[in-house]
Amino acid sequence: MPINLHRCAVTGVSEDPLGARVYPAPSRSSRTPFQRDRERIVWARAFRRLAGKTQVFTSRASDHFRSRLTHTIEVAQIARAAAAELGLNEDLSETLALVHDIGHPPFGHAGERALDQCLRRHGRSFDHNLHALRIVEHFEQRYAAHRGLNLTLGVREGIIKHSRDYKVEEHPELAEYLLDQRPPLEAQLIDLADEIAYLTADLDDGVESGLLEVGHICEHVDILARCYKAVQKQHAGVEDKFLFNEALQLMQNILTDDLIATTRQNTLEIGAESLADIRRYPHRLALFSPQVEAERLQEKRYLYDTLYTCEALENEHDKAEEVVTALFDHWINDPEELPPSHFDEVQNEGLARVVADYIAGMTDSFILLQYAEVKRAVRR
Ligand code: MG
Repeated sequence: MPINLHRCAVTGVSEDPLGARVYPAPSRSSRTPFQRDRERIVWARAFRRLAGKTQVFTSRASDHFRSRLTHTIEVAQIARAAAAELGLNEDLSETLALVHDIGHPPFGHAGERALDQCLRRHGRSFDHNLHALRIVEHFEQRYAAHRGLNLTLGVREGIIKHSRDYKVEEHPELAEYLLDQRPPLEAQLIDLADEIAYLTADLDDGVESGLLEVGHICEHVDILARCYKAVQKQHAGVEDKFLFNEALQLMQNILTDDLIATTRQNTLEIGAESLADIRRYPHRLALFSPQVEAERLQEKRYLYDTLYTCEALENEHDKAEEVVTALFDHWINDPEELPPSHFDEVQNEGLARVVADYIAGMTDSFILLQYAEVKRAVRR
Protein backbone atom coordinates (compact mmCIF):
# COMPACT_ATOMS: atom_id res chain seq x y z
CA MET A 1 0.00 0.00 0.00
CA PRO A 2 1.70 3.26 -1.09
CA ILE A 3 2.23 5.89 1.58
CA ASN A 4 -0.42 8.56 1.38
CA LEU A 5 0.01 12.20 2.26
CA HIS A 6 -3.17 12.75 4.26
CA ARG A 7 -1.29 14.60 7.02
CA CYS A 8 -0.40 17.27 4.42
CA ALA A 9 -3.98 17.48 3.08
CA VAL A 10 -6.43 20.31 3.56
CA THR A 11 -8.95 18.93 6.03
CA GLY A 12 -12.06 20.50 4.53
CA VAL A 13 -13.98 20.56 7.81
CA SER A 14 -15.93 23.69 8.81
CA GLU A 15 -13.41 24.62 11.54
CA ASP A 16 -10.55 24.78 9.02
CA PRO A 17 -9.73 28.43 8.18
CA LEU A 18 -9.66 27.40 4.51
CA GLY A 19 -13.32 26.40 4.87
CA ALA A 20 -14.25 29.95 5.96
CA ARG A 21 -16.57 32.15 3.86
CA VAL A 22 -16.87 35.94 3.76
CA TYR A 23 -20.61 35.83 4.50
CA PRO A 24 -22.17 33.43 6.99
CA ALA A 25 -23.60 30.33 5.32
CA PRO A 26 -25.27 28.12 7.90
CA SER A 27 -24.69 24.45 7.21
CA ARG A 28 -27.88 22.73 6.09
CA SER A 29 -26.64 19.25 5.45
CA SER A 30 -23.77 16.90 5.97
CA ARG A 31 -21.88 18.23 2.95
CA THR A 32 -18.36 19.54 3.57
CA PRO A 33 -17.53 23.17 2.69
CA PHE A 34 -15.67 22.10 -0.48
CA GLN A 35 -18.51 19.83 -1.59
CA ARG A 36 -20.83 22.80 -1.25
CA ASP A 37 -18.44 24.94 -3.28
CA ARG A 38 -18.33 22.31 -6.01
CA GLU A 39 -22.10 22.52 -6.28
CA ARG A 40 -22.08 26.34 -6.23
CA ILE A 41 -19.68 26.27 -9.18
CA VAL A 42 -21.52 23.63 -11.18
CA TRP A 43 -24.74 25.69 -10.86
CA ALA A 44 -23.07 28.97 -11.86
CA ARG A 45 -23.94 30.65 -15.15
CA ALA A 46 -20.25 31.13 -15.97
CA PHE A 47 -19.77 27.37 -15.64
CA ARG A 48 -22.57 26.66 -18.11
CA ARG A 49 -21.09 29.13 -20.57
CA LEU A 50 -17.91 27.00 -20.75
CA ALA A 51 -19.92 24.76 -23.09
CA GLY A 52 -19.87 27.56 -25.68
CA LYS A 53 -16.21 28.48 -25.37
CA THR A 54 -13.34 27.27 -27.54
CA GLN A 55 -10.73 24.95 -26.17
CA VAL A 56 -8.56 24.71 -29.31
CA PHE A 57 -10.91 24.54 -32.29
CA THR A 58 -13.16 27.54 -32.82
CA SER A 59 -15.02 26.26 -35.85
CA ARG A 60 -17.39 23.45 -34.98
CA ALA A 61 -16.29 21.21 -37.84
CA SER A 62 -16.71 18.18 -35.57
CA ASP A 63 -19.05 17.54 -32.66
CA HIS A 64 -16.25 15.52 -31.11
CA PHE A 65 -13.89 18.44 -30.42
CA ARG A 66 -13.51 19.44 -26.79
CA SER A 67 -15.18 22.59 -25.58
CA ARG A 68 -13.85 24.33 -22.50
CA LEU A 69 -16.55 22.54 -20.52
CA THR A 70 -15.63 19.01 -21.59
CA HIS A 71 -11.96 19.88 -21.09
CA THR A 72 -12.84 21.05 -17.57
CA ILE A 73 -14.60 17.77 -16.79
CA GLU A 74 -11.57 15.83 -18.02
CA VAL A 75 -9.27 17.88 -15.77
CA ALA A 76 -11.61 17.29 -12.82
CA GLN A 77 -11.50 13.54 -13.37
CA ILE A 78 -7.69 13.47 -13.45
CA ALA A 79 -7.30 15.85 -10.49
CA ARG A 80 -9.74 13.93 -8.33
CA ALA A 81 -8.11 10.59 -9.13
CA ALA A 82 -4.63 11.94 -8.35
CA ALA A 83 -5.79 13.55 -5.10
CA ALA A 84 -7.47 10.29 -4.02
CA GLU A 85 -4.38 8.23 -4.76
CA LEU A 86 -2.24 10.66 -2.73
CA GLY A 87 -4.65 10.77 0.23
CA LEU A 88 -5.36 14.48 -0.33
CA ASN A 89 -8.68 16.30 -0.19
CA GLU A 90 -10.46 15.01 -3.32
CA ASP A 91 -13.34 17.47 -3.01
CA LEU A 92 -11.01 20.47 -2.99
CA SER A 93 -9.03 19.24 -6.01
CA GLU A 94 -12.16 18.45 -7.99
CA THR A 95 -13.72 21.81 -7.15
CA LEU A 96 -10.59 23.69 -8.20
CA ALA A 97 -10.46 21.76 -11.47
CA LEU A 98 -14.11 22.56 -12.21
CA VAL A 99 -13.47 26.27 -11.69
CA HIS A 100 -9.96 26.50 -13.18
CA ASP A 101 -10.97 27.79 -16.64
CA ILE A 102 -14.06 29.76 -15.67
CA GLY A 103 -12.24 33.06 -16.32
CA HIS A 104 -11.41 32.29 -19.95
CA PRO A 105 -12.81 34.64 -22.61
CA PRO A 106 -14.31 33.32 -25.87
CA PHE A 107 -12.01 31.94 -28.63
CA GLY A 108 -9.46 30.29 -26.34
CA HIS A 109 -5.99 31.77 -26.00
CA ALA A 110 -6.40 33.94 -29.09
CA GLY A 111 -9.35 35.68 -27.41
CA GLU A 112 -7.38 36.10 -24.21
CA ARG A 113 -4.39 37.57 -26.05
CA ALA A 114 -6.59 40.01 -27.96
CA LEU A 115 -8.42 41.15 -24.82
CA ASP A 116 -5.13 41.64 -23.00
CA GLN A 117 -3.76 43.75 -25.88
CA CYS A 118 -6.91 45.90 -25.87
CA LEU A 119 -6.63 46.48 -22.13
CA ARG A 120 -2.92 47.31 -22.31
CA ARG A 121 -3.74 50.28 -24.52
CA HIS A 122 -5.63 51.56 -21.44
CA GLY A 123 -2.90 50.76 -18.94
CA ARG A 124 -4.61 47.57 -17.68
CA SER A 125 -4.16 43.86 -18.44
CA PHE A 126 -6.19 40.66 -18.60
CA ASP A 127 -5.40 37.58 -16.52
CA HIS A 128 -7.86 34.68 -16.54
CA ASN A 129 -7.15 33.63 -12.94
CA LEU A 130 -7.84 37.12 -11.62
CA HIS A 131 -10.90 37.31 -13.84
CA ALA A 132 -12.15 33.98 -12.45
CA LEU A 133 -11.99 35.47 -8.97
CA ARG A 134 -14.05 38.47 -10.12
CA ILE A 135 -16.65 36.08 -11.53
CA VAL A 136 -17.06 34.07 -8.34
CA GLU A 137 -16.86 37.12 -6.06
CA HIS A 138 -18.95 39.64 -8.00
CA PHE A 139 -20.58 38.62 -11.25
CA GLU A 140 -22.47 35.51 -10.20
CA GLN A 141 -25.71 36.59 -8.56
CA ARG A 142 -27.56 33.73 -6.95
CA TYR A 143 -27.98 34.93 -3.38
CA ALA A 144 -30.17 37.68 -1.96
CA ALA A 145 -27.77 38.68 0.80
CA HIS A 146 -24.58 39.20 -1.23
CA ARG A 147 -23.01 39.23 -4.64
CA GLY A 148 -20.90 36.31 -5.78
CA LEU A 149 -20.90 32.67 -4.75
CA ASN A 150 -19.41 33.21 -1.29
CA LEU A 151 -16.86 30.43 -1.82
CA THR A 152 -14.49 29.20 0.85
CA LEU A 153 -11.06 30.76 1.31
CA GLY A 154 -9.46 27.47 0.19
CA VAL A 155 -11.21 27.53 -3.17
CA ARG A 156 -10.58 31.25 -3.74
CA GLU A 157 -6.90 30.81 -2.90
CA GLY A 158 -6.70 27.87 -5.32
CA ILE A 159 -8.37 29.88 -8.10
CA ILE A 160 -5.64 32.49 -7.83
CA LYS A 161 -2.62 30.29 -7.16
CA HIS A 162 -3.16 26.95 -8.91
CA SER A 163 -1.11 27.78 -11.99
CA ARG A 164 1.25 30.59 -11.04
CA ASP A 165 2.58 32.73 -8.22
CA TYR A 166 1.63 36.39 -7.80
CA LYS A 167 3.95 38.88 -6.11
CA VAL A 168 2.60 40.52 -2.96
CA GLU A 169 4.05 43.91 -4.04
CA GLU A 170 2.20 43.76 -7.37
CA HIS A 171 -1.10 42.54 -5.97
CA PRO A 172 -1.72 44.02 -2.51
CA GLU A 173 -5.45 43.39 -3.05
CA LEU A 174 -4.75 39.63 -2.94
CA ALA A 175 -2.98 39.69 0.45
CA GLU A 176 -5.52 37.38 2.10
CA TYR A 177 -4.42 34.57 -0.24
CA LEU A 178 -1.00 34.18 1.41
CA LEU A 179 0.92 35.05 -1.75
CA ASP A 180 4.27 34.47 -0.05
CA GLN A 181 3.38 30.81 0.58
CA ARG A 182 2.91 27.86 -1.76
CA PRO A 183 -0.66 26.67 -2.29
CA PRO A 184 -1.76 23.30 -0.83
CA LEU A 185 -0.96 20.19 -2.88
CA GLU A 186 -4.65 19.94 -3.88
CA ALA A 187 -4.22 23.21 -5.79
CA GLN A 188 -0.73 22.43 -7.06
CA LEU A 189 -2.08 19.31 -8.78
CA ILE A 190 -4.52 21.31 -10.92
CA ASP A 191 -2.03 22.85 -13.30
CA LEU A 192 -0.51 19.45 -14.07
CA ALA A 193 -3.88 17.71 -14.36
CA ASP A 194 -4.70 20.46 -16.87
CA GLU A 195 -1.48 19.64 -18.78
CA ILE A 196 -2.26 15.91 -18.81
CA ALA A 197 -5.79 16.57 -20.05
CA TYR A 198 -4.86 18.84 -22.93
CA LEU A 199 -1.70 16.97 -23.97
CA THR A 200 -3.93 13.95 -24.49
CA ALA A 201 -7.01 15.70 -25.86
CA ASP A 202 -5.21 18.00 -28.30
CA LEU A 203 -3.53 15.05 -30.03
CA ASP A 204 -6.94 13.38 -30.19
CA ASP A 205 -8.77 16.45 -31.53
CA GLY A 206 -5.83 17.30 -33.77
CA VAL A 207 -6.07 13.92 -35.51
CA GLU A 208 -9.88 14.18 -35.62
CA SER A 209 -9.51 17.55 -37.38
CA GLY A 210 -7.15 16.13 -39.99
CA LEU A 211 -4.49 18.68 -39.03
CA LEU A 212 -2.34 16.07 -37.28
CA GLU A 213 -1.37 12.65 -38.49
CA VAL A 214 -0.55 9.71 -36.20
CA GLY A 215 2.64 8.71 -38.07
CA HIS A 216 3.95 12.27 -37.93
CA ILE A 217 3.15 12.54 -34.21
CA CYS A 218 5.05 9.30 -33.53
CA GLU A 219 8.09 10.62 -35.41
CA HIS A 220 8.26 13.75 -33.25
CA VAL A 221 6.66 12.95 -29.88
CA ASP A 222 8.66 10.31 -28.03
CA ILE A 223 6.12 9.56 -25.33
CA LEU A 224 3.33 8.87 -27.82
CA ALA A 225 5.69 6.80 -30.00
CA ARG A 226 6.61 4.69 -26.96
CA CYS A 227 2.95 4.15 -26.08
CA TYR A 228 1.97 3.37 -29.67
CA LYS A 229 4.69 0.72 -29.92
CA ALA A 230 3.54 -0.86 -26.65
CA VAL A 231 -0.12 -1.12 -27.66
CA GLN A 232 0.81 -2.35 -31.14
CA LYS A 233 2.61 -5.27 -29.52
CA GLN A 234 -0.33 -5.98 -27.26
CA HIS A 235 -3.04 -5.73 -29.94
CA ALA A 236 -1.53 -7.12 -33.13
CA GLY A 237 -3.67 -6.75 -36.26
CA VAL A 238 -6.01 -4.15 -34.76
CA GLU A 239 -7.12 -1.13 -36.82
CA ASP A 240 -4.99 2.02 -36.47
CA LYS A 241 -7.70 4.16 -34.89
CA PHE A 242 -8.05 1.72 -31.98
CA LEU A 243 -4.29 1.62 -31.53
CA PHE A 244 -4.16 5.41 -31.43
CA ASN A 245 -6.94 5.55 -28.82
CA GLU A 246 -5.19 2.89 -26.74
CA ALA A 247 -1.89 4.77 -27.07
CA LEU A 248 -3.53 8.01 -25.89
CA GLN A 249 -5.02 6.26 -22.86
CA LEU A 250 -1.68 4.68 -22.01
CA MET A 251 0.05 8.06 -22.33
CA GLN A 252 -2.52 9.68 -20.06
CA ASN A 253 -1.99 6.93 -17.48
CA ILE A 254 1.80 7.26 -17.66
CA LEU A 255 1.59 11.02 -17.13
CA THR A 256 -0.89 10.68 -14.26
CA ASP A 257 1.04 7.88 -12.52
CA ASP A 258 4.25 9.88 -12.88
CA LEU A 259 2.64 12.98 -11.38
CA ILE A 260 1.35 10.96 -8.43
CA ALA A 261 4.64 9.14 -7.81
CA THR A 262 6.82 12.25 -8.19
CA THR A 263 4.59 14.40 -5.99
CA ARG A 264 4.60 11.72 -3.30
CA GLN A 265 8.35 11.31 -3.51
CA ASN A 266 9.04 15.07 -3.43
CA THR A 267 6.80 15.50 -0.39
CA LEU A 268 8.41 12.61 1.48
CA GLU A 269 11.90 13.79 0.56
CA ILE A 270 11.49 17.18 2.25
CA GLY A 271 10.00 15.43 5.28
CA ALA A 272 6.71 17.37 5.02
CA GLU A 273 4.34 16.32 7.78
CA SER A 274 1.69 18.99 7.53
CA LEU A 275 0.05 21.50 5.23
CA ALA A 276 2.22 24.17 6.86
CA ASP A 277 5.35 22.35 5.63
CA ILE A 278 3.97 22.30 2.06
CA ARG A 279 3.18 26.00 2.26
CA ARG A 280 6.56 26.98 3.69
CA TYR A 281 8.62 25.05 1.14
CA PRO A 282 10.07 27.48 -1.42
CA HIS A 283 9.01 25.41 -4.48
CA ARG A 284 5.99 23.50 -5.65
CA LEU A 285 6.14 19.78 -4.92
CA ALA A 286 3.53 18.57 -7.42
CA LEU A 287 5.71 17.90 -10.44
CA PHE A 288 6.54 15.37 -13.13
CA SER A 289 9.82 13.44 -12.97
CA PRO A 290 12.70 14.91 -15.03
CA GLN A 291 12.23 12.34 -17.84
CA VAL A 292 8.48 12.83 -18.16
CA GLU A 293 8.93 16.59 -17.83
CA ALA A 294 11.31 16.52 -20.81
CA GLU A 295 8.80 14.47 -22.80
CA ARG A 296 6.00 16.82 -21.80
CA LEU A 297 7.97 19.81 -23.07
CA GLN A 298 8.77 18.00 -26.30
CA GLU A 299 5.08 17.26 -26.92
CA LYS A 300 4.05 20.77 -25.96
CA ARG A 301 6.53 22.24 -28.44
CA TYR A 302 5.24 19.86 -31.12
CA LEU A 303 1.63 20.87 -30.49
CA TYR A 304 2.59 24.52 -30.57
CA ASP A 305 4.57 24.30 -33.81
CA THR A 306 2.36 21.83 -35.65
CA LEU A 307 -1.16 22.47 -34.39
CA TYR A 308 -1.69 25.72 -32.45
CA THR A 309 0.17 27.85 -34.99
CA CYS A 310 -0.81 25.99 -38.18
CA GLU A 311 -2.37 28.05 -40.95
CA ALA A 312 -5.93 26.83 -40.42
CA LEU A 313 -5.93 27.73 -36.72
CA GLU A 314 -4.02 30.98 -37.25
CA ASN A 315 -6.83 32.08 -39.57
CA GLU A 316 -9.30 31.40 -36.76
CA HIS A 317 -7.03 33.29 -34.34
CA ASP A 318 -6.91 36.31 -36.68
CA LYS A 319 -10.68 36.31 -36.90
CA ALA A 320 -10.95 36.04 -33.09
CA GLU A 321 -8.61 38.97 -32.68
CA GLU A 322 -10.56 41.05 -35.18
CA VAL A 323 -13.88 40.34 -33.43
CA VAL A 324 -12.62 40.99 -29.88
CA THR A 325 -10.77 44.17 -30.86
CA ALA A 326 -13.64 45.61 -32.92
CA LEU A 327 -16.17 45.04 -30.14
CA PHE A 328 -13.84 46.35 -27.46
CA ASP A 329 -13.32 49.57 -29.45
CA HIS A 330 -17.04 49.81 -30.17
CA TRP A 331 -18.03 49.88 -26.48
CA ILE A 332 -15.07 52.08 -25.52
CA ASN A 333 -16.26 54.64 -28.07
CA ASP A 334 -19.93 54.22 -27.24
CA PRO A 335 -20.33 53.04 -23.62
CA GLU A 336 -24.07 53.72 -23.61
CA GLU A 337 -24.45 50.78 -25.97
CA LEU A 338 -23.40 48.48 -23.11
CA PRO A 339 -26.19 46.62 -21.31
CA PRO A 340 -27.38 48.81 -18.38
CA SER A 341 -26.07 46.46 -15.68
CA HIS A 342 -22.56 46.76 -17.14
CA PHE A 343 -22.82 50.48 -17.84
CA ASP A 344 -23.66 51.05 -14.15
CA GLU A 345 -20.32 49.50 -13.18
CA VAL A 346 -18.26 52.00 -15.19
CA GLN A 347 -18.01 54.51 -12.36
CA ASN A 348 -16.58 51.84 -9.99
CA GLU A 349 -14.34 49.88 -12.31
CA GLY A 350 -13.47 52.20 -15.19
CA LEU A 351 -14.74 51.77 -18.72
CA ALA A 352 -11.92 49.59 -20.10
CA ARG A 353 -12.31 46.98 -17.32
CA VAL A 354 -16.09 46.89 -17.68
CA VAL A 355 -15.89 46.35 -21.45
CA ALA A 356 -13.32 43.60 -20.93
CA ASP A 357 -15.50 41.95 -18.26
CA TYR A 358 -18.47 42.00 -20.62
CA ILE A 359 -16.50 40.49 -23.51
CA ALA A 360 -14.71 37.93 -21.31
CA GLY A 361 -18.04 36.47 -20.19
CA MET A 362 -19.28 35.83 -23.73
CA THR A 363 -19.44 32.48 -25.48
CA ASP A 364 -18.06 32.14 -29.02
CA SER A 365 -21.51 32.22 -30.58
CA PHE A 366 -22.73 35.19 -28.53
CA ILE A 367 -19.70 37.32 -29.37
CA LEU A 368 -20.12 36.53 -33.07
CA LEU A 369 -23.76 37.65 -32.87
CA GLN A 370 -22.70 40.89 -31.20
CA TYR A 371 -20.08 41.44 -33.87
CA ALA A 372 -22.58 40.86 -36.69
CA GLU A 373 -25.01 43.31 -35.09
CA VAL A 374 -22.41 46.01 -34.64
CA LYS A 375 -21.22 45.61 -38.23
CA ARG A 376 -24.80 45.79 -39.51
CA ALA A 377 -25.41 48.97 -37.50
CA VAL A 378 -22.27 50.56 -38.96
CA ARG A 379 -23.43 49.79 -42.52
CA ARG A 380 -26.88 51.31 -41.92
MG1 MG B 1 -7.46 24.34 -18.62
